[in-house]
Amino acid sequence: MPIYEYKCSACGHVSSVLVQGFKDPEGLSCEQCGHTGLAKIISAANYHSSHSDRLAGYDPRSRKSDGFFKDTRNIGLEAERMLKKAGVEPTEDFKNKLERARTDPGSVLKDYKP
Ligand SMILES: [Zn+2]
Repeated sequence: MPIYEYKCSACGHVSSVLVQGFKDPEGLSCEQCGHTGLAKIISAANYHSSHSDRLAGYDPRSRKSDGFFKDTRNIGLEAERMLKKAGVEPTEDFKNKLERARTDPGSVLKDYKP
């Protein structure tokens, strides 16, 4: 499960929280001052979450943050989720294309010939 960091809007204290899925846990409050206005921040721990954590935590119905769309590692999560749901094993070609899109998105565009 991924670990997210939440920053308190009152005192600025940062708490690390183990989160199931991409949804923020309910009833979060600051460990320092008890304030309930906490905002999720992108942390190093979050950045290093494994791909299986990402896929397991991906919820197509949840609202995505800007960070989600800017993070190329999230490219193709929906496709992977659908394949998994259908019980279809992705082909090597599919996996390679996905890996390339995630690690070097510019190279995919360069190859595109209209
Ligand atoms: Zn606080």
